[in-house]
Amino acid sequence: MIELFDTHCHIHTEDYQLDADEVLASAHAAGVGRMVVVGTDLATSQAAVQFAASREGVWSSIGLHPHDASLSSQVFAALQELGRATQATSAKLVAIGECGLDYFYAHSTKSEQAAALRAQIELAIELNVPMIFHVREAFTDFWPIFDDFQKNGAKVRGVVHSFTDSAEQLEHALSRDLYIGVNGIMTFTSRPEQLDMARRIPLESLLFETDRGTINKPEMVVEIASFLANLRNEKFEDLAQATTSNARKLFNV
Ligand SMILES: [Zn+2]
Repeated sequence: MIELFDTHCHIHTEDYQLDADEVLASAHAAGVGRMVVVGTDLATSQAAVQFAASREGVWSSIGLHPHDASLSSQVFAALQELGRATQATSAKLVAIGECGLDYFYAHSTKSEQAAALRAQIELAIELNVPMIFHVREAFTDFWPIFDDFQKNGAKVRGVVHSFTDSAEQLEHALSRDLYIGVNGIMTFTSRPEQLDMARRIPLESLLFETDRGTINKPEMVVEIASFLANLRNEKFEDLAQATTSNARKLFNV
């Protein structure tokens, strides 16, 4: 039986258009038996914790996304509390994020985004969980922040999710032992340099995800895996096995 892992989805949110439990059942039937539901603000983080609590094969990540989040210190304090309280009572909180820098949309200022990112890295270090990073057109500012924490002796682990950036940024991420999350965007890109980058991601650093979309489903990981198997000239089974074991190792599940 092929086992796949959706490392990043949002089927737990209120605006999700499908019945999440039906979607979960069909994901299981398709071999996607494990997934992480990801918060982007306080409400969806609370919802992620609740959603994962009662469902087998579902874990949660909590965070403030640079788009949707109101990045105030009060909101962050509440997120911190949520993280501590959840970890004290369950093993289902497996990551902090998604968080990072997004200069494409720039819904909040660069300095607000940087402050929120730093605070969330600190929370991940405190709770000893990895991070789910969202970085768009902002790697130049992202790496110095990330590296600051490594200098202080902390080992920040995590994944750069929805990665579609250059081969150069791929090298930066790999040199920092980060995982690379690939989703459906890759299956409809026509940019040769993006496809070339996807061929270069080492098998031991690759993760699959479905991400957002009001009708996106974790079972679509199957399509992402077969697309990449084709592109990379690898066996579907090998890709499934490696990415699932990468995800289990990263999230410790
Ligand atoms: Zn997401």
